[in-house]
Amino acid sequence: MNNIFQSVLCCPKCREKLTNEGQRVFCSLCLEDVAVDDRFIDFDRLNPKLNLDLDAIVQKITEYAGITMNDIDIDWRIAAILKDIRKNARGTVCLEIGGADGPMTPVLENLFDTTLTLDYSKHFLKRIQNKTERAICVYSNAHFLPIQDNVLDMIICCEVLEHSTIPTQLLTEMRRSVKKDGMIILSVPNEQIIYHRKKHSNYKFSQAGDTHINFFTPDSLGNLLFRTGLEIIHMKTIFPPNRSIKNLYSNMKNYIKRSFSGNFIVCLARPMANPLKYWDILNSNLKNNAKKKPTEA
Ligand SMILES: [Zn+2]
Repeated sequence: MNNIFQSVLCCPKCREKLTNEGQRVFCSLCLEDVAVDDRFIDFDRLNPKLNLDLDAIVQKITEYAGITMNDIDIDWRIAAILKDIRKNARGTVCLEIGGADGPMTPVLENLFDTTLTLDYSKHFLKRIQNKTERAICVYSNAHFLPIQDNVLDMIICCEVLEHSTIPTQLLTEMRRSVKKDGMIILSVPNEQIIYHRKKHSNYKFSQAGDTHINFFTPDSLGNLLFRTGLEIIHMKTIFPPNRSIKNLYSNMKNYIKRSFSGNFIVCLARPMANPLKYWDILNSNLKNNAKKKPTEA
């Protein structure tokens, strides 16, 4: 346990390595302590505080969901993603981001020597702690990971990006902390549709049931990953198994409605050799265009 303070974790505010003196863990630059209680590590005092109104609303509701929400069952979606995780698991250190009540965490802690699960809800993390034996529960803002550069073998980030106030920052942080040969498994709901509703004002308020603030299609996710320095190894969409005629009919209807794709996007990604590739190309395009301009007399 002490070893992860040296080799994996860092201060989320200044990214300096933490100082571990006896029972006390702190950042010697920011002069604040990390609260450590057995497997529960609380970075609250070192979390950068952003004055973002929507972020405050989402965090408050997420914490409340941590108290009131029932445990998530290992449904077809989680089972499908776990299959991909098992198939691609590599290395020794894994970070799960936004694990909710932790339906996947008991599996992860058996696949890796060190499994960290990070959330911004203390209630959800306590629930994960109760159902795991070794996983380290980290209370921190995922937009500022308390993780050193290039130290993670695998990052699991399932159904988190759509709740994130700043998805570009979250992806950039994942790219920073995963090893050059590490892997990221991402999943988000697929918002691809074959036609656009004309009456956007007919929002069904009674169906308000989640804190989604970002909406992705396979194309939009691909663009976002490229611009944040991540390379797609494999991207697919998934849908529920055809267990009955009713399932089959509903899947076919959904498949057509979603422009011939499934309900969720699952993506395996890794850091690009040059994470700034897009920005370098843009820079050289701008320079070339400037050269072409006729010089002013
Ligand atoms: Zn610091």
